[in-house]
Amino acid sequence: MSFSQLAVSTPIQRALNDLGYTNPTPIQSKSIPIVNQRKDLLACAQTGTGKTAGFAIPVLQLMEEDKNTRQATKGIQALVLTPTRELAIQVEESFRDYGKYLPFRSLAIFGGVSQVPQVQQLQKGIDILIATPGRLLDLIGQGLLSINSIRYFVLDEADRMLDMGFVHDVKKVLQYIPAKRQSLFFSATMPAEIRQLAARILVNPETVAVTPVSSTTELVKQEVRFMEKEEKRDGLVGLIRELSIRSVLVFTRTKYGADKLSRFLQKAGISSAAIHGDKTQGARQRALADFKEGKIVALVATDIAARGIDIDELAFVVNYELPNVPETYVHRIGRTGRAGNNGSAFSFCDREERQYLKDIEKLIGMKIPVARMAMPV
Ligand code: AMP
Repeated sequence: MSFSQLAVSTPIQRALNDLGYTNPTPIQSKSIPIVNQRKDLLACAQTGTGKTAGFAIPVLQLMEEDKNTRQATKGIQALVLTPTRELAIQVEESFRDYGKYLPFRSLAIFGGVSQVPQVQQLQKGIDILIATPGRLLDLIGQGLLSINSIRYFVLDEADRMLDMGFVHDVKKVLQYIPAKRQSLFFSATMPAEIRQLAARILVNPETVAVTPVSSTTELVKQEVRFMEKEEKRDGLVGLIRELSIRSVLVFTRTKYGADKLSRFLQKAGISSAAIHGDKTQGARQRALADFKEGKIVALVATDIAARGIDIDELAFVVNYELPNVPETYVHRIGRTGRAGNNGSAFSFCDREERQYLKDIEKLIGMKIPVARMAMPV
């Protein structure tokens, strides 16, 4: 299957070619034809499957078609709701990348930063808006933004929206967009509450699914290392040195734990930064940029801060602390082994975390191999 077989338009194919995308991923092969037929879509796909392009490519294509057939209305044409600022930024970048040979203007708006530059951009005229629900409703409330011209509505990572308590806000947003629209709904998991929300948004949707959340990506090599809590810090330094790791995403359960670990790594001579909800947006973006550019070796993150972080070719993920929600493990390790790259995920498990490990193994349906290692490191 190729992008031309999916009838992707020439300007978009050129952009994909520039990015080095040769073939569509399974979610893209499934979703693009449905969206192109102007049908609503319910897609079960997690981060790392190429889901963003799965909606961005066909939405751009339909917008191009509207423009050529003079069906486009005035104002914002497409709205994508995302649960986090990081994801909003990344989705906007994707629209810009795939639409670089098209005349559409896109913008990401999110809370935690001044609204002034965002409002200035909006006033210049925007075709595609990517927003977190809070800031969106805030600007609508202030009369600074109208979304009543939307033709394409995308809800991205709907289950995260639910986890983060944004469902009420999402429902509110629905009151401001036209009933006559095409809606695309993406979620990694499909619990009953998510299905109910989807039923409210979608009309006669086609359903597609790839890689259920319980199956961890085959490209990720997983390993568990048993150790006591007190041994973990040295264990991490040891692992980084043992494998000469130059780039690793490390997960902790708490913000405090992230800061503490990052300081310890710095002292041990491993450049590091922590990202979590208490850091300013600027500090988070800086840390992420430094990490992407290879200026720091270890990025220590809490789950919420790491959501939606899109780092190409991330080879190593460490679960410094195991998550108590097993699905979180799958999301974490899904950060690596993306789009054909190999990745390794190491999990440090102490005595108190054995039950979490059991829950994870039950969910993913396999025993994670135990490392035989020379301890103490
Ligand atoms: P996503 O699941 O949308 O977060 O995408 C995961 C990663 O895969 C991103 O870094 C994309 O740039 C990349 N990607 C998406 N589609 C393709 C494709 N068809 N070929 C190669 N890489 C892709």
